[in-house]
Amino acid sequence: MVVEPTSRQQPRSKAAKASKTTLRAGIVGAGIAGAHCAGTLAAAGWDVDVFDKARGAGGRLSTRRLEQGWATLGTPFISAKRDPFRSQLREWVRQGWLAPVRGDIWQGRATVSWAQAQMQNHYKPTIEPSQLVRQLLGNARLHTLTRVAALQPRTLILENGQALGDYDCIICSVPIPQAIPMLDALSLLRERLGDVRYRPIWSFLMRWEGGPAADVIKFDDHLLNLAVRQTSDGPGLWAVHSSHEFAETYLEASFEKASTRAASALMDLLGLPWPVEVEAAHLWRHARPETSVGGFWLGDRENHVALIGDGIAGVGVERAWESGLRLAQALIQSKEELAV
Ligand SMILES: Cc1cc2nc3c(=O)[nH]c(=O)nc-3n(C[C@H](O)[C@H](O)[C@H](O)COP(=O)(O)OP(=O)(O)OC[C@H]3O[C@@H](n4cnc5c(N)ncnc54)[C@H](O)[C@@H]3O)c2cc1C
Repeated sequence: MVVEPTSRQQPRSKAAKASKTTLRAGIVGAGIAGAHCAGTLAAAGWDVDVFDKARGAGGRLSTRRLEQGWATLGTPFISAKRDPFRSQLREWVRQGWLAPVRGDIWQGRATVSWAQAQMQNHYKPTIEPSQLVRQLLGNARLHTLTRVAALQPRTLILENGQALGDYDCIICSVPIPQAIPMLDALSLLRERLGDVRYRPIWSFLMRWEGGPAADVIKFDDHLLNLAVRQTSDGPGLWAVHSSHEFAETYLEASFEKASTRAASALMDLLGLPWPVEVEAAHLWRHARPETSVGGFWLGDRENHVALIGDGIAGVGVERAWESGLRLAQALIQSKEELAV
C-alpha cells in the first residue's frame, strides 16, 4: 500500500514552520508494546504513525472473528506481577474488559488422573483481546496491512519501497528475529541484539464431545500444553495450545498434518471416544522469547531508532506493555533525545 503523506509528513522545513514543537514517531508493530508506546506518546502531544503488516492491531493478542463471536489463538491469559501494570489490569477490570480466571480448572490426563488446579492472579479478556490493544493506541494513526521492510536513521522503508522519513524517533516493536533483517543500515544496533531465540507454539480451535467439564485444562503432556474454553461462540469451542516441542517438530508441517497430530493427541489425553473437529490452526513461529536482551528498550541515539517488545524486556504481556511505556516516558522526558 502507499501511505499518503499527511501534513505532518511533509518535508521537515514546511512542517517545522507550521509547528516547531510537535515531535513525530514512526512505530513498527501494533502489538501491546508498540500500541502502548504509541498511545503514550500521542497523549503527550506527539504525532504518531503505527505500521502493522496484519489486518488490525493486537499482534500475539489478536482475535479470530467467528460467525457468532470471536476466539483467540494467541495469549489466553494476562497477569501482573507489579505496578504499573497492576493498575492497568485494575482499570481494565473496572471497565469490564477483563475478569479473573475462575471456574473449573483441571490438570492431568485421562489415563492417569485429573486434579483441580488454580490460576491465581490470572485474568481473561471479556472483550476481544485485540480491542484492549486497540484502545491503547489512543490518538496514534494505525496503518494496517503495511509491512515495513527496513529501518534507516529517522526513516522507515515500506515493503513497496516507499521511504517515510524525517521522524524524530523510529521505534521497532516486532519479535527480534523479524527485526534483524530490517537493521542492515543500523549495524551497531543489530550487533547489540545478540542471539535472542524464540520458541514456537501451534494453536488450534477445536470442538469435541465428552472430556472433563472444565473451563481450562492444563495437560501433563509433552505434546499439548493447555486448552481454554472459548465462551463467545457457545460453550463447545476450545483453543488448544501445543507445547514448544510439538511446534518445533511440526514447524514446517502443513495445517492438516499438525491438526491431525494434535487432534489425536487430544483424544488420548481426554479419553474421547469421538473424533475431534479442528476449525482453525495458527503457527506462532515467535510465540515466546527464550532469552531477552534486557532492560526495557534498546536505543541507537545517533540514528534515532529504538527497539521494544518482549524480545528486549522479557517474555509476557506485562513486560511488553511496560517496555512500550518506559520508552515513551524516556522520550517524553528527553524530548526526542534517546537517553541510552
Ligand atoms: C500462543 C501464545 C500464548 C501466550 N500466552 C501468554 C500468557 O498466557 N501470558 C503472557 O503474559 N504472555 C503470553 N504470551 C506472550 C505474549 O503474547 C507476548 O509476550 C506479547 O503479546 C508480546 O507483545 P509485543 O508487542 O512485544 O509483540 P507482538 O504482539 O508480536 O507484536 C508485534 C507486531 O508487529 C507486527 N509486525 C511484525 N513484523 C512487521 C513488519 N515487518 N512490518 C509491520 N508490522 C510487523 C506484527 O503483525 C505484530 O502485530 C503468549 C504468546 C502466544 C503466541
